[in-house]
Amino acid sequence: MDTELVVLGGGPGGYAAAFLAADLGMKVVLVEQDARLGGTCLLRGCIPSKALLHVAKGMAEAEHLADWGVRFDRPQIDLATMRARKAKVIDTLTSGLKQLAAKRKVELIRARAIFESSQTLRLQGADGQPPAAERLTFQHCILASGSVPTRIPTLELDSPRLMDSTAALELPDVPESLLVVGGGYIGLELGTVYAALGSRVTVVEMTDGLLPGVDRDLVRPLHKRLESRFSAIYLNTKVTALKDLGDAVEALFEGPAEPRTQRFSRVLVAVGRRPNSAELGLENTGVKLDAKGFVQVDAQRRTADPHILAIGDVAGEPMLAHKATHEGKAAVEALAGHPVAFRPRAVPAVVFTDPEIAWAGLTETQAKQQGRKIDTAMFPWAASGRAQAAGRTEGMTKWLFDPESQRVLGCGIVGAGAGELIAEAVLAIELGCHLRDLAETIHPHPTLSESLGIAAEAALGIATDIFRPKR
Ligand code: FAD
Ligand code: NAD
Repeated sequence: MDTELVVLGGGPGGYAAAFLAADLGMKVVLVEQDARLGGTCLLRGCIPSKALLHVAKGMAEAEHLADWGVRFDRPQIDLATMRARKAKVIDTLTSGLKQLAAKRKVELIRARAIFESSQTLRLQGADGQPPAAERLTFQHCILASGSVPTRIPTLELDSPRLMDSTAALELPDVPESLLVVGGGYIGLELGTVYAALGSRVTVVEMTDGLLPGVDRDLVRPLHKRLESRFSAIYLNTKVTALKDLGDAVEALFEGPAEPRTQRFSRVLVAVGRRPNSAELGLENTGVKLDAKGFVQVDAQRRTADPHILAIGDVAGEPMLAHKATHEGKAAVEALAGHPVAFRPRAVPAVVFTDPEIAWAGLTETQAKQQGRKIDTAMFPWAASGRAQAAGRTEGMTKWLFDPESQRVLGCGIVGAGAGELIAEAVLAIELGCHLRDLAETIHPHPTLSESLGIAAEAALGIATDIFRPKR
């Protein structure tokens, strides 16, 4: 079997690339080992986690209404219905992708693909089913094989009580106690879900703060709230051993955690993800990997092999779905001969906790590391009518801007709904907006989006919603 373009991997990078390529008139085959399209994001990542976070948010808001004099009975949780509802969300979206592929005449092959050479893939059947062809030859391949959870050998345990994110999203039960190893995106999002459902959640993070790398002023309000929702947060701490006791898992801590040995009903290990670049036969091609196993690519996502491009998690950080999708489109446009380069000024990142944290473009942490001079413009949500009305005043919006030109370089937001608010910042950074542009843009009142305009006004000394003494 021969094709012009093969896309290896049906996640948000791969299916976007395949669909755009078909729209541009290319003959496309999409090879995916899973029975369904959608990849990590749809089947065991972004979407199921957000479906469960939706439940957690509803429960937290209902509880919060007690402050306003409205009290509900203790929630009754029917896990079977919750799982079925989550499955329905995934089924709807993955069936939609299948239809979109069919409408575009993208040929789907269910198989595990391995490179035999720069222009040949060997196809292996999945779930005992033989593949549609044994070999696939191509002019170009876009590799979009994604990433897999990082494993720590000392934390391997042959026990259903030990979970990775995929197992945790299955929601096998609501454990009485849950140990989360890793205070990053997954640990905090899924910790939030399980805490809302009633588990006593303990988070162990080996660095000195949750969400390492994220600006500390953004993390602080989240840390404070999680301290009241979680049973314990241990920083500078490692789990050095796990033991299956049958009815519980015993964890041994190294660091300030006391006592050093503690028992948990379940353990979720979420210590990062690594590129899925091993066992793909890439040694039979000219593709080069970096020290962490990411495929090395140029601005058009071309690898060192002229027949192979790479996108998404396998092609470097940040490992985020929207970055994968945009890279996929850039790679296809490059193949179509369009003058394109993947050089975003701002890739947004959102941690969907409560409160949410979102950022885009340059961060203060990066500016400090680079020795780059920046100024910041900040608006505390305590001065926002909408935040007061919602009883969520712990939020904060800040811009990073160039002190000379006042052009905005980055934005960070912590607060309820920060993930939706960051989109305006991405557009502003991409368009090269200045503080004035933001201050003069009329934001609807009363909304939290006003915080973006007022933060800019504050830096310009023209904010009326807050008072800053003259310097
Ligand atoms: P993937 O989605 O990983 O897809 C790769 C596909 O390739 C898979 O379907 C795999 O089966 C297939 N494949 C691999 N090897 C082969 C082979 N040899 N042959 C055939 N097929 C193969 N990102 C966000 O932006 N927002 C979020 O809210 C978010 N939440 C997340 C929550 C969790 C719990 C997790 C784990 C991740 C989350 N992510 C989120 C990250 C996001 O899922 C990834 O960044 C995104 O899926 C990467 O897309 P991709 O196309 O590069 O790869
Ligand atoms: P992560 O990199 O976000 O966090 C891992 C955390 O584990 C880090 O804080 C790290 O210091 C800590 N850690 C590492 N080894 C440890 C050890 N031995 N003991 C204790 N702590 C340890 O990784 P993740 O949470 O597994 O998520 C993986 C990736 O998936 C993310 O980086 C992100 O790209 C993606 N993701 C994104 C979203 C989103 O966009 N909302 C949600 C989930 C996942």
